[in-house]
Parts: sequence; C-alpha cells; structure tokens
Amino acid sequence: PPELEAEKYRVLKTAFGFDAFRPGQEPVIDALLSGRDVLAVMPTGAGKSLCYQAPALVMGGLAVVVSPLIALMEDQVAGLRLDGVRAEAIHSGRSREDNVASWRRVASGEARLLYLAPERLMTERMLAALGKLPVSLVAIDEAHCVSQWGHSFRSEYLLLGQARAALPKARMIALTATADQSTRDDILQKLFEGSAETYVAGFDRPNIQIAVSEKRDAMTAIERYVDARKGLSGVVYRISRKKVEETAARLQGAGVNALAYHAGMEAQARAAAQETFLAERGVVMVATVAFGMGIDKSDVRYVVHGDAPGSLEAYYQEIGRAGRDGEPAEALMLYGLEDIRTRRRFIDEQDSAPERKRVESRRLDALVGFCETTACRRQALLAYFGETNPPCGNCDVCLDPPEVIDGTQEARLLLGL
Ligand code: ADP
Ligand code: MG
Ligand code: ZN
Repeated sequence: PPELEAEKYRVLKTAFGFDAFRPGQEPVIDALLSGRDVLAVMPTGAGKSLCYQAPALVMGGLAVVVSPLIALMEDQVAGLRLDGVRAEAIHSGRSREDNVASWRRVASGEARLLYLAPERLMTERMLAALGKLPVSLVAIDEAHCVSQWGHSFRSEYLLLGQARAALPKARMIALTATADQSTRDDILQKLFEGSAETYVAGFDRPNIQIAVSEKRDAMTAIERYVDARKGLSGVVYRISRKKVEETAARLQGAGVNALAYHAGMEAQARAAAQETFLAERGVVMVATVAFGMGIDKSDVRYVVHGDAPGSLEAYYQEIGRAGRDGEPAEALMLYGLEDIRTRRRFIDEQDSAPERKRVESRRLDALVGFCETTACRRQALLAYFGETNPPCGNCDVCLDPPEVIDGTQEARLLLGL
C-alpha cells in the first residue's frame, strides 16, 4: 500500500536517522507490511533489528520482541529510547516494580515495542493480557535458538511455536544469522508450521580477510599474531575454559590488554569483561563460544580461532564479529587434525539421535573441506551458504596460492618406472 510505503521511509529517517535501507532490509519490511509472515536470514551486522523495528512503527499497535538474552534486550531498548522510540523490556534482571511500571506503559498503549524472554511471553497470563492489546507484530530474534541442530538451542524457544495461534492477528517475523538449510527448515517448521516467506540476504563480508593456517604451537602463534596487532580490538576463540584462561594469562604476560570470558565465570565478572571490551579500544577478548551473541562492537579488527570451530556456520558467525564498521579486518583459524579428531569424538560419543549425529558429522566434513580447499576460501565458505561468487582476492589462498605439487615424477622414481 502506497501510504505504508511513504510511512516506511519517513520512519527510517525520522525515527532511526538513516538515509537508506541496507540491502536485504526492504524486501523483509515490505513483506511484513503486506501482511505476510517472514523468516529473515541475514548475516550478523546486516541490520536485522530494523527489519522489525521499522514495521512496528509503521503498523502501529504493539510489537512484541522475543530475545534470548537480557543483555540483548537492554541494548535494544536503550538504543530505541535514544532514537525517541517508546520501548519496554520485562525480564528477570529487573526489579518487580520496574517490570510492573513497564507493563503499565505497555497496557496504556504508550509503548511501541515490548521485549520479552520466550518463557515469559508464553505464560498463559502474559498471552491473555497481550490478547487484549492491539499486538500487530511478534518478532523472534536469534531464531536459530529454536533449532536443535544448532549450537545455541534453547528449549524455551520451542514454546514459541504456539505464539502464532495465541496472537492470531499479529504478523510474525523470525530473524537469524544462521543460514544453513537444516536450521532454516527447522525454524520454519517449529515456528511457522512451514508457512512463512524466507528472505536470505547476502552473506559476503568482503572486508574480512580470511586465512587458515596449520596449527602447531597454538599458544605461540596466537601470541605473535596478537602482539603484531597491539592496540587493536580482537577476539580469540578457544575451545575450553582452561585454554581460555591459559591464553589470556599468556597474552597478559606479554603486555596485551587481554580478558577472559567463558560460561564458568561468575555472571558479574563476565558482564564486567564484556563491558570493558565494548567500551574500550584495544582490548583482546579470549573466549569460548559463550561470548559474542548479538555483540555489536564495530571496531573489532580480528577474530582468531585458536582451535577449530564446530561447524562452518559457527565459524561464519564468529568471524562476523570482526569489521562490522566495514573497514579491513582479519580472521585467522589455526587448523589441526587433532582438533577435528576431538570434534569427531564429541559427535560419536554424544548421546543423541543418529540423525543428529549425521547432521553434525556432515557439518564437520564441510568445515574440513573449507580448511583444506586449494581454491578461494571465501568461495568455499559462501558456497556452503548457497551463494556463488568469483574468487575473492582477500583470502590466504587468493593472496598466496599454494603450489600444486606434481607428485607424478616422484611417484615414478619411487616405483622405479
Ligand atoms: P544484526 O542484528 O543483523 O546483527 P543490528 O540490527 O544489530 O544487526 O544492526 C547492526 C548495525 O547496523 C546497528 O548499529 C544499526 O544501527 C545499523 N543499521 C541498521 N540498519 C541500517 C541502515 N539502514 N543504515 C545504516 N545503518 C543501519
Ligand atoms: Mg541482532
Ligand atoms: Zn579468496
């Protein structure tokens, strides 16, 4: 509708202060405005939030946003309020009085957006209360949490499958940066009973130079790499809490402003580390995969994987935390067969359905393929997400093509031919 069309641009400019939509945002917004449900798959940093925030303002009424982490909700609400948009969050990290006050502003129609944790939305009381309000949109952020295939499965997300039935007049959008087909299918099936339009936006992050190098002495390699980039913000991923602690200590010993982050730390210490990393320049975060979901820090200049990640989508999501400002950034993975063997053992020893093991094993194979490719690495990575691209010119293979050794001569000599 033309009046919504005009309103959409007005909201973009006046509410958010942006001149143009980013690639991928507009089709998603248009689909919602014309009354369809949407699964939006867009890389980290692409601007998924705007895909539901702008329609929320254009449609009027209340938009309910489901988010898996309190920190994410708080960030978003704070950001919206800076833009002068009335947004509220109700969650366990706030006092009861604050939550009650927020709910009053929601019930009175003052608030445009309400952020909730999934389990809170799906209580009978909340659904009944929201049923009396003009809820126009339900947005489910980080929707891959609904998928058991992924590494961030959250059982509370499964409840959301009933959200559509409970709020039948609202449009629904699910957003994720995790794009592989099995996860996508899972989201569609669990949240939409299969019926939503899927939009996938470009996955290429051409400013990130990607490289894989053989893993020998990981600790020394990491120290050298980080030391050569002193003063820059970076993230170093390690597979275990112990390695995180060791690596952070080693870097600190070398005079690097390094912090540790893993799920075994006290919540407070973790939050403090994250705060420092976000607020200051030149901090190196040494972390397990527990770190990073939804982190919006634009000047991360590199991401190092000291150990192989579990899958290409985990890898993609993790390196995506670098270079969100569009300036040159780097991603280095140290790749050793020992890591792959460990990962394989994890999968084999897992107490899970054979189908799940097969999916995980296929994913690991894809990662190995990426690490061992002798063609452009970005091509291999994007091909996994279903994109076809020419050689990138900004990966280790493109920049320094490996010599293809012709083994024929040697073999002949060996065989005495
Ligand atoms: P995602 O959820 O996809 O990782 P965000 O929604 O957090 O990404 O957005 C990433 C950044 O991009 C934010 O700082 C946001 O303000 C900015 N952004 C989003 N849309 C636009 C736009 N149309 N023009 C300029 N900046 C934008
Ligand atoms: Mg986001
Ligand atoms: Zn390349």
